[in-house]
Amino acid sequence: MRFVSTRGQAPAVGFVDAVLGGLAPDGGLYVPQTWPQISREEIAGFADMPYAQVAARVIGAFAEGEIAQDDLLAMCEQAYATFSHAAVVPLVQLRPGVFIAELFHGPSLAFKDVAMQILARLYDHMLGERGRTQTILCATSGDTGGAAVEAFRGRQNVKVVALFPEGRISEVQRRFMTTAEEANVACVAVKGSFDDCQAIVKQAFQDPVLRQAVDLSGVNSINFARIVAQAVYYFTTAATLGAPARTVSFCVPSGNFGDAFAGYVAHRMGLPIGRIVVATNSNDILARTFETGRYERGTLTPTISPAMDIQSASNFERLYFEAGGRAPADTARAFEAFAGDGAIDVPPKAFAAMRELFRGVATGEDDTRRAILQTLDATGQLIDPHTAVAVSALDRVADLTGPVVVMSTAHAAKFPDDVAAASGVTPGLPRGGADLADRPERFDRLPAEAETIKAYVRAFAEG
Ligand SMILES: *Cc1c(COP(=O)(O)O)cnc(C)c1O
Repeated sequence: MRFVSTRGQAPAVGFVDAVLGGLAPDGGLYVPQTWPQISREEIAGFADMPYAQVAARVIGAFAEGEIAQDDLLAMCEQAYATFSHAAVVPLVQLRPGVFIAELFHGPSLAFKDVAMQILARLYDHMLGERGRTQTILCATSGDTGGAAVEAFRGRQNVKVVALFPEGRISEVQRRFMTTAEEANVACVAVKGSFDDCQAIVKQAFQDPVLRQAVDLSGVNSINFARIVAQAVYYFTTAATLGAPARTVSFCVPSGNFGDAFAGYVAHRMGLPIGRIVVATNSNDILARTFETGRYERGTLTPTISPAMDIQSASNFERLYFEAGGRAPADTARAFEAFAGDGAIDVPPKAFAAMRELFRGVATGEDDTRRAILQTLDATGQLIDPHTAVAVSALDRVADLTGPVVVMSTAHAAKFPDDVAAASGVTPGLPRGGADLADRPERFDRLPAEAETIKAYVRAFAEG
């Protein structure tokens, strides 16, 4: 499969180059030239297949010809063996017609493990075959860093630098990153917001001098392999609930729009989906966009669902490109304008195409807390604040068809203080994470200045 940039100014590349490259050299995002199709019979068959086999099938549709299917299956089996639940992504019923997909049974207790565990193995495999080493630079709003560190720690051909906004992530989130002892891991507390971190990563990728010196790669949700890895659980959960004969809808707590866009990918590959509800906290750029057609940055407000405290959702560029009929010049113009002015209007035809699938709903802090308490009362289950944003959003969408799956993106124990304040119950860390608070931490502090951080990355990569 060839991949093209949403901005049209970069050469088409294969799967391996699209994954190792992260962002395309023209500043755009890679999308596949065509969407491979999975038949209705195959989708129905996913209902009783091991998760790793479905993953190998879905990812293999893009990696075909570049990674041997046997190797891919072995990598998927190893990746999902790190999960503490045999179903990998189990479904739990919340009430009639509403289910929770528990995406948090991986090593760092957040859904980002689902993609990162397979991504790390893909990197090892691809770099090993090419005799290359790379440095992964990632900005994290809390969970990506921990998932990346867990997945890449100790791997031979990869170093990892994780940038996180100082003081804006929970202690448990921070400790999943900063307690890794391996020398190939560096964590940096940046004096700024997640958007600052993400902007610095973008600048680093666009700096030819740095890229000459350091073989840089990204594992943020702009990386297409992550998106595809996340499309897998749309297939498995929908099939479990009767797809393709039944049409399933999804409600997804969203920040960078990677998870929700993965649902779009599954849909384009043939999975019938009723709606994808994009649930945000008060940082509601996506919720507003899907209701008004105007994609406009607001002011950043810290919330109790910090992984979604984002005011520019990178993956939205992919949807804009697709919904607009794949017009790269227009996409480039729009997102260059957005980088400057912080606002663009989605053309009416593209907006109508988005509305065929997507709805947007924003949830405030009080409703989020209420959803945690009500879910505990109704089911005995503790949900984390990100999941609660989505559970609460469900009450405000009218036209959902079929069963609804809420993506539960983190274990409640990653946010113990806020969950306890909302529900009166303190969630405990599951087996394996119990000594997290006692492990020594290791990280550096830097200002939110691109030049300083680029110099740090270079020194670490070369050291
Ligand atoms: C990253 C994250 C999200 C947001 O996912 P996107 O793919 O960025 O939209 C939601 N919840 C949790 C717990 C996360 O870590």
